Amino acid sequence: MKIKTNVNFGNIRQTYLFSEIGSRVRAYENANPDAKIIRMGIGDVTLPLPKTVTDAMIKACEEMGVRETFRGYPPEYGYAFLREAIAVHYRSLGVEVDTDTIFVSDGAKSDLGNIVDILGNNPVIIPDPVYPVYVDSNTMSGNSITYINGTKENGFLPLPSELTEQIEGSVIYLCSPNNPTGASYDKDSLKAWVDYALKTGSLIIYDSAYEAFISRDSIPHTIFEIEGADICAIEICSFSKFAGFTGVRCGWTLIPSSLMAGDVSIMALWKRRQATKFNGVSYPVQRAAAAALSKEGISACESNIAYYKENARLITELLDEKGIFYTGGKNSPYVWMECPEGCGSWEFFDRLLNEVQIVGTPGEGFGKGGDRYFRLTAFGSLENTKEAVRRLKEFL
Ligand SMILES: *Cc1c(COP(=O)(O)O)cnc(C)c1O
Repeated sequence: MKIKTNVNFGNIRQTYLFSEIGSRVRAYENANPDAKIIRMGIGDVTLPLPKTVTDAMIKACEEMGVRETFRGYPPEYGYAFLREAIAVHYRSLGVEVDTDTIFVSDGAKSDLGNIVDILGNNPVIIPDPVYPVYVDSNTMSGNSITYINGTKENGFLPLPSELTEQIEGSVIYLCSPNNPTGASYDKDSLKAWVDYALKTGSLIIYDSAYEAFISRDSIPHTIFEIEGADICAIEICSFSKFAGFTGVRCGWTLIPSSLMAGDVSIMALWKRRQATKFNGVSYPVQRAAAAALSKEGISACESNIAYYKENARLITELLDEKGIFYTGGKNSPYVWMECPEGCGSWEFFDRLLNEVQIVGTPGEGFGKGGDRYFRLTAFGSLENTKEAVRRLKEFL
């Protein structure tokens, strides 16, 4: 063909992370068919959906099969019953939001990737290590990225004061509690970012996908707990980790109507973008999401999260005992540990696989700053996590 393609795709860092992990594990399994491998690299929930949620989904499917209750295209920004349930959720976090500012989506990843559509080629600030979508979607758009490094010294919570120069009019991505490090900004440090954004006329894109794992009062559940965020921040959240919706697909983006770039309303641009390129989330899924936010739903989701957090506690308890530096595990399903003895992250991966048959995720898959770190997740079963901790106790 004679067409031009998007040459920026050639600049995306090729991460063979999960395929490389898969092939190393398969090779080990072939050589050791009886080995009992424990997978602690899972970045996906494993507990089934709460019954309240599946009941709501079934009922909604049945409505779709009856002429009187059948529904066609959903409203493009989400059904009112779900937008209202999300607004009530914010109220429970102490934040009043207008339901018109909530845009229901098929998940946070889509919105995180799509948001570049409404933004120009601004300078972009992204922490390293981090969830790869921010970097890759901006690279696809040809934007130049300034990395701000998470380190042992800053507890993997970089602050704007660490930027070597003040960048005006930038787009800043923050993820808290973080994937992969599990580190979470407290109110003061998040306020430092909001103040920086206000001072430099920048926009913060705040990924709060792990909000439901927060247990400490000092950690904000939403950036809108911080004064001034309503004129400099977008929040993107998901039912995936809160309610186990990774396979169901539902999330939302909150764009305050007060968010203005000059005289242009960011919310108006997003409305136009969504109405043009997106046709909404299916009715049964939105009913399921609303059920997850019901009183019964929240309590079932919380008990699943408590299950994962107990796994995380077992892992961090061992690392504390061994005196190994880590972040996460407290307000997050992820434990981000320093590889012992200055070991590289792939080297540590191989040692864990070969010596104790545990699979985790090498930190360098999330950015340069992860090259001596390793991510263990709490999404496995309690039984497997206990067994893994037993093996690690001997090994570390
Ligand atoms: C899992 C995850 C999401 C959620 O993505 P969905 O598309 O809603 O499943 C968003 N951000 C981060 C950092 C995640 O780890």
